[in-house]
Amino acid sequence: MIVAVDGPAGSGKGTVTKRIEKEIGFLYLDTGVTYRCVALEVLRKGIELNEEDKIIEIANKIDVKIQKRENGDLILLNNEDVSKEIRSKEVTSIVSQVSSIIKVREKMVELQRKLAEGKNVIVEGRDIGTVVFPNAEVKIYLDASEEIRAKRRYEENVQNGINTTYEEVLENVKLRDYNDMNKKVGALKKAKDAIVIDSTNLTIEQVVGKIIEIIVNKGNK
Ligand code: C5P
Repeated sequence: MIVAVDGPAGSGKGTVTKRIEKEIGFLYLDTGVTYRCVALEVLRKGIELNEEDKIIEIANKIDVKIQKRENGDLILLNNEDVSKEIRSKEVTSIVSQVSSIIKVREKMVELQRKLAEGKNVIVEGRDIGTVVFPNAEVKIYLDASEEIRAKRRYEENVQNGINTTYEEVLENVKLRDYNDMNKKVGALKKAKDAIVIDSTNLTIEQVVGKIIEIIVNKGNK
């Protein structure tokens, strides 16, 4: 079974899908890491964002592997552990532009489908229910207000030792929302058959409970 969870930055997709992996044993797949790995290589190689051909070359060449670990997935970029580095401010500030390049998306979608092949998976991203897995059995669109999403990301940054202000995070959330919703391909939008959950006033447990209920109901049909 494929469960697609889409939504904007900070809507809680990562937190709740990781929890669901633990509770019902579905493999959790965070598709954002694939775009973050491309963005990290772009930074490391000193490539400018307007050098699309070079960015596409990176997307075609890089090897991204995800290994399950007790305390968060291990992300390997060309066999190097980049789990922390892909969450840096620098990567976060360019990733939505990198992911707007259509040929980069095509390559990453291919990789994401491979990573999920033949498994019970809960996949989170922006275009999972619309592009990556349009036939997913369950589709969720998770949303929350801009302010609460920025607050959650800010608190996450503090926990991970990333030095940002709330205002900076709010600006980045707004900019990424705009970029993500206005992409020519793979834009963030609700699939027609997705169930919307607004998590603004819900606890993590409440959102997890709602999604598990939807999955179980689907499995019983
Ligand atoms: O989910 P996360 O914030 O880590 O994603 C980083 C960026 O990757 C997003 O802002 C978005 O631009 C891009 N992305 C995407 N499609 C996905 C997942 C992420 O375009 N399925």
